[in-house]
Amino acid sequence: MCSGPPATSPRATGGELISTVRAQTGSAPTPAELPAVIEIAAASVYYGSFRALDQVSLRVAERQITALIGPSGCGKSTLLRCMNRMNDLIAGFRLEGHLSYRGEDLYARDVDPVEVRRRIGMVFQKPNPFPKSIFENVAFGPKAHGFRGNMADVVESSLRAAALWDEVKDKLNESGIALSGGQQQRLCIARALAVQPDVILMDEPCSALDPIATLKIEDLMKELAKTYTIVIVTHNMQQAARVADHTAFLMMRPDRAGELVEFGDTDTLFTTPRDKRTEDYITGRFG
Ligand code: ADP
Repeated sequence: MCSGPPATSPRATGGELISTVRAQTGSAPTPAELPAVIEIAAASVYYGSFRALDQVSLRVAERQITALIGPSGCGKSTLLRCMNRMNDLIAGFRLEGHLSYRGEDLYARDVDPVEVRRRIGMVFQKPNPFPKSIFENVAFGPKAHGFRGNMADVVESSLRAAALWDEVKDKLNESGIALSGGQQQRLCIARALAVQPDVILMDEPCSALDPIATLKIEDLMKELAKTYTIVIVTHNMQQAARVADHTAFLMMRPDRAGELVEFGDTDTLFTTPRDKRTEDYITGRFG
């Protein structure tokens, strides 16, 4: 885990590739047709003796939004948390299979989980700003990582990237927890962006927000996907259909282990699903 994201903009490559694939096929590219940032191969996750996920394989494509959908308890958050080693902190967690980030084994012995979580940031369901000023919230990560440059610049550019700057530029010293819910979530996104991540994982980032704040976050996600790779867990299928380039549908088996039923480009998954279970779920027949 010593090499960072490429210095040159891979968006150019990804963008060209998307255009080429679209021109060749007339449709959106599938995950397999784009460069992968995270590759998951036959991952099974256990909490003690309970198997929460069984043999999940998934490819997170660069600068795309990948959504994980499925009924509650099917393992969406578990899968998301595997992608930046957040599950390491849970007693009894065990992983079988393989996860790689830009070709490197995410779970290799010499990989530093703190560095993994800098590269692969996370935004949670409930906005969780620190009880500190707006400025200090954003500066927290760079400070912790020993950043010595111009902190005011980092704070401003992160807040701009999170579409919050104009709303808070005159009150940077006020408390982050005094903001509205939607603003707090954008502050948390700014905080995640401040450490220059490559990937942003979002675990139901809008579930505590009203519809207007939700749409703002969705617009922001689309904007961020020009620069970052995003994975979002959502229980809201319309949200996945609105924002995601690729969608993975997971389900729980009778033994309660989660499995990946179907994965592909969002339009195809929602309009012509291959699996009857996906069709039943998206048409509201269960879940
Ligand atoms: P989802 O995000 O799809 O609702 P989760 O990943 O939260 O699903 O949970 C998948 C399964 O793993 C559920 O049966 C849940 O009860 C179980 N689980 C999640 N976290 C833990 C944990 N820390 N310890 C034990 N079981 C857990």
